[in-house]
Amino acid sequence: MNFVSTRHTAPPVTLSQAIAAGLAPDGGLYVPAQHPQASAWQPQGSLALDAAAVLAPYFEGDALAPHLSKLCADAFDFPAPLRALSTPGNHVLELFHGPTAAFKDFGARFLAASLAELQRDREHPLTIVVATSGDTGAAVAAAFHGQPGIRVVVLYPDGRVSPRQAHQLGCFGDNIHTLRVAGSFDDCQAMVKQALGDRELQARVPLSSANSISLGRWLPQMSYYAHAALEHHARTGNVLNLVVPTGNLGNAMAALLARAMGLPLGQVALATNANDVLPRFFQGGAYQPATSVATLANAMDVGAPSNFERLRWLYADDDAALRADLHVEAVDDAAIRAVIARRWAQAGEVFCPHTATAVAVLEALRADGMQGDWAVAATAHPAKFESVVEPLIGRALDVPPSLSALLQRPAHAQPCAPEYAALRERLLA
Ligand SMILES: *Cc1c(COP(=O)(O)O)cnc(C)c1O
Repeated sequence: MNFVSTRHTAPPVTLSQAIAAGLAPDGGLYVPAQHPQASAWQPQGSLALDAAAVLAPYFEGDALAPHLSKLCADAFDFPAPLRALSTPGNHVLELFHGPTAAFKDFGARFLAASLAELQRDREHPLTIVVATSGDTGAAVAAAFHGQPGIRVVVLYPDGRVSPRQAHQLGCFGDNIHTLRVAGSFDDCQAMVKQALGDRELQARVPLSSANSISLGRWLPQMSYYAHAALEHHARTGNVLNLVVPTGNLGNAMAALLARAMGLPLGQVALATNANDVLPRFFQGGAYQPATSVATLANAMDVGAPSNFERLRWLYADDDAALRADLHVEAVDDAAIRAVIARRWAQAGEVFCPHTATAVAVLEALRADGMQGDWAVAATAHPAKFESVVEPLIGRALDVPPSLSALLQRPAHAQPCAPEYAALRERLLA
């Protein structure tokens, strides 16, 4: 299958080209040229096998197609269980069993495995540059660690991520170079953008990125929704409805694309934190990007959701149809705290602040009489956000083994001035 840009002016490309490029040359985002449809989906018995089945139509005819099964087996070697909650019909889809305990491990690992395959016969190593405010950089670093032919340079704002996050970012070494930048996340992002636009540099050092609009991160996220929906449908005969905690809309768009392929998914509702650009649009307002505000669910602190162009594309730019189809609600910090404390006290259930926004939305839908089987996407393990969660539940949380293994490695991020010249020098080294 070919991929086209949401802005319509860039030429169609193959899947491999879209994965390697990141952004389309006209500034748009790559989307599939057709919607593959199937009605007779059957569960294949594992997450990796279901992933290969739903991704197959997008890989058809591409150089990566013969490797799809192995890519899925390598990238999705940890589970995404659907667990029942204490309220009948409510479930949680746990997406935090990967190496850095957040759902971003799925997309990052699939992208890393794909790029490593595409790099196999290249003479020059590829450098991935990525700016991070916390979660993304760790997932990307973990995924690319040890991948042959690829070097990763991660930039994060020194002193502005949690100690646990800083440790995670700096603990890899080998082909992962972590720079703690004496500046803000915006400084880091500006430095990366400048590098990606520096043709003279790229003639000497081939560069790519791994940000949230990358097709190689976005498409594979369909897999866990497909797997959960197929198994649930086979077991109960019911479709699965979803609440997805949302920042840049990557994870939510993956759920919507899976549903568009005919998988047994029902309604999709989105939860944001106090950054309410999407809820305002869905209430009928204009789409009005804003400066983000800091919240307890910091991985969703987004004022201009980067996948919004894909959302409009999926509804053929028909805003009325889009507004009618999705329920979108903002959940502020007070409500996040309240839901974490209440679910613990009432049911012994613990959620990270991001997942808590989705739980709050599901509670509101149920209070309005919503029927059916629902799952909230649990995007991170609560122990990753211990400084928020532990005081609310009054106990220490166990750190999952993969995360504690990372925290035991020595960290060695290098200081870097917040200037492009400093980054350029590192990239040329
Ligand atoms: C990135 C992230 C989100 C938001 O996902 P998007 O795909 O950007 O909408 C939600 N929760 C956690 C824990 C995250 O790391």
